[in-house]
Amino acid sequence: MPTIDRLIVATGNAHKTEEIRAVLADLVPEVADLRAHPEVVPAEETGTTFAANAALKALGAAAALPAGSWVLADDSGLEVDALDGAPGVYSARYAGEGATDADNRAKLLAALTDVARRAARFRCVLVLARAGDAPEVEATFDGACEGTITTAEQGAGGFGYDPLFRPDGHDATFGELPAEVKNGISHRARALAALRVWLEGR
Ligand code: IMP
Repeated sequence: MPTIDRLIVATGNAHKTEEIRAVLADLVPEVADLRAHPEVVPAEETGTTFAANAALKALGAAAALPAGSWVLADDSGLEVDALDGAPGVYSARYAGEGATDADNRAKLLAALTDVARRAARFRCVLVLARAGDAPEVEATFDGACEGTITTAEQGAGGFGYDPLFRPDGHDATFGELPAEVKNGISHRARALAALRVWLEGR
């Protein structure tokens, strides 16, 4: 099996690319993203699962890249048990198209007013695909981080729902915990750890 010399992350988000580059530094010599490939039009996230959306992004980018290119895409979000898994794949646009993180957090707090059952989890799915005549999904990796939704915002660190999410085993939210702590236990860290194991086995 060939090793992966260059991985293209199907995102324009520099923070995401940097996190992936750091985690895979000893295994993949070059990690680029769509900023280096303006010919790739980002796929629309029309799927109803994280895996479907990650596959849409990975295969969409692979279709526009030279044969043999390796592409990695991710999709992530928050699932709240008392809301039957919402906001789920709609996490980024929970309060509507163009909603800010603060709008989404306010909507979540309102939806959970007087709700005692506050268990939730962040989930991240990574899809690895290879460009070619018929691009294919090579592997899929899943990561989850279990926790609880607080009754008010705590901390200003991180992004998205971090100030409302207290991971199990901690007394503080992702908005309060140091980035190193979050990056050790997060849904994304766990999915990336699974990708590392796969790469090490090649
Ligand atoms: P995407 O996978 O980059 O499309 O992210 C989906 C949405 O899920 C984000 O806009 C956030 O609202 C939420 N989300 C994903 N990961 C995290 C996280 O680590 N902390 C807080 N919110 C997150």
